[in-house]
Amino acid sequence: MPGQHTRRYGGNTTCLEIRGEHDEVVILDAGTGIFPLGQQLLSRESKPIHLFITHTHWDHIQGLPMFKPLFDPNADITIYGPRDPVSGLDIRERLALQMDRHFFPVPLDRVPCALRFVDMSEAQQVHIGSLEVTSCLFNHPIVNFGYRVDDGAKKFVFTGDHEWPKEPHSLGNERPTISTSAPHKQRANSINFMRDCDVLVIDTAYTEEEYLTRHGWGHGTFDSSIKAAREAGVKKAFLTHHEPSRTDDMLDHVFQEALIRNQVEDHDPTFLLASEGTEVQI
Ligand SMILES: [Zn+2]
Ligand SMILES: [Zn+2]
Repeated sequence: MPGQHTRRYGGNTTCLEIRGEHDEVVILDAGTGIFPLGQQLLSRESKPIHLFITHTHWDHIQGLPMFKPLFDPNADITIYGPRDPVSGLDIRERLALQMDRHFFPVPLDRVPCALRFVDMSEAQQVHIGSLEVTSCLFNHPIVNFGYRVDDGAKKFVFTGDHEWPKEPHSLGNERPTISTSAPHKQRANSINFMRDCDVLVIDTAYTEEEYLTRHGWGHGTFDSSIKAAREAGVKKAFLTHHEPSRTDDMLDHVFQEALIRNQVEDHDPTFLLASEGTEVQI
């Protein structure tokens, strides 16, 4: 939601870049934020690009058709993502849909860069130079992988879109999730995946009040993110996926309220609101 009221935290949708010690380029998601990133990448020394997609909801793939390196014959891009267990479509087939001729003039199989696709399965590890990227299923209405990037010394985790699973007795208008394991097991699995990470970027779309009518929409809340980061012993947590109707000032307000309500103190993880363009050295 770009505009004058979201200038401080930014209005683009999800896209993160992780740069390894040897300038390895790992990108997580291709929301509209991948457009400015693509322009930046073209001005840097060319390196293979490894793009991991958490899931194919629009706000996580919408920038891909405008990602400049796709149209650079010298660019080398590998796109990773889960296969959808309901439709059976793999990541290439789903991304090709949004570049079908009805929606975009250049089909995905005609872009001039070197382009490869990798079907990721759960808990799969991929090695990219000094980095190891691992996938984990996080609860959302469609298949959604969180990713951990580990260089042997430091760990970074991104949840993608994620709602903490509920026990069946607390189901409201919940829609079915992809995972077949019990909610408490799913939760333990997600917490373990984040365990002791240096930086966590976590879906925190809603306030507790908003969440009352949004069970099953697939997103976390300020309280659920603070609780999880504490439980997992993370060092620094960036709260993200800001609800698009919230202005910068409203976001500051609900964040401060959540810190006070949850009695966040110095020994807790450091909590920050993710903002566009932030660079963090781990
Ligand atoms: Zn989503
Ligand atoms: Zn999303």
